[in-house]
Amino acid sequence: MSEGGPARAPRAAGRDAAAALRSVVVLAGGVGAARFLSGVVQCIAPEALTAIVNTGDDRVFYGVHVSPDLDIVTYTLAGRIDPERGFGLAGDRFTLIERLRALGHETWFRLGDADFANCLHRTLRLAEGAGLDEIADELRRDHGLGFRILPMSNDPCATRVLLEGGRSVHFEEYLVRDGAPADVCAVDLCEAERASPAPGVLEAIAGADLILVAPSNPIVSIGPIRSVPAIGRALDAATCPIVAVSPIVGGLPIKGPAHTLMRACGLEVSARGVAALYRDWIDGFVFDARDAQARASIEALGLAAEVLDTLMVDAAASKRVAEAAIALGKRLR
Ligand code: GDP
Repeated sequence: MSEGGPARAPRAAGRDAAAALRSVVVLAGGVGAARFLSGVVQCIAPEALTAIVNTGDDRVFYGVHVSPDLDIVTYTLAGRIDPERGFGLAGDRFTLIERLRALGHETWFRLGDADFANCLHRTLRLAEGAGLDEIADELRRDHGLGFRILPMSNDPCATRVLLEGGRSVHFEEYLVRDGAPADVCAVDLCEAERASPAPGVLEAIAGADLILVAPSNPIVSIGPIRSVPAIGRALDAATCPIVAVSPIVGGLPIKGPAHTLMRACGLEVSARGVAALYRDWIDGFVFDARDAQARASIEALGLAAEVLDTLMVDAAASKRVAEAAIALGKRLR
């Protein structure tokens, strides 16, 4: 990351800002991304949208391959997410997990029965030789969604968190089992750094006429996507505008450990801190009115800025945030 000077080479200018977007890519984590995508699908045709989703949180639990972010996006957009937990399926039962608990297994990752069946489907299909991308598409179609959901990679990409004292834990262990403690030294993305993009990812980025970065955790949701070397290069080479939405609102994340992880990575926990982290590869930044005082310093990073209430409390709010990001992107074309 560098400070001062223009953020990145200007985009090819002269395209018609009013022209309909034919291909929009959204880089996505889980909860924040799903809320944002709920807005994007109200603004553009489903066939114009591709979500490229973080798989750094993936892990095997109880013998099945769980892809938390792919499933949060799929369940939320299908209107089936458990609203209380923010993951899993609404109305799901926990017979399986309770039985495992009674038999003495560790059950800190609460997978519901229908959720388990989806993950078992993923596991069985992987054993048959299917790619994670094909399986994400099967689950996407099964949930009646019309837009494309791609994992960032079909390769193992586990994000690990290094804790003081030298312990290294998988991100889900850090977040769910241990409750996201503050004693983080570093985040280890070395598996993502060795991974290849899933089929279709590079083509989607190269063919996009707008790329949006969801208000997702910059370190453990967007970080892994960007760390897949060929994806990082494709984003650097993208000729369309790239607009990010800040997950930091009023100096803190809405939910989750973004502040702890940003701090551990030596970053300022603020909208400006996220903008500075992304500035080399984005053109525009949408952030919350609670952080409006940061506007000049964000523009000084060489970024076009848009300020509004970014709390996506319902479908209408999600639509407003998506509209603002898309409008900024169109202005930058
Ligand atoms: P996770 O993998 O489930 O943690 O999901 P993400 O990485 O996609 O989302 C986590 C981030 O979303 C957190 O840093 C939150 O601050 C952010 N977030 C969640 N809801 C909102 C919202 O309504 N507005 C904004 N601006 N950010 C949000």
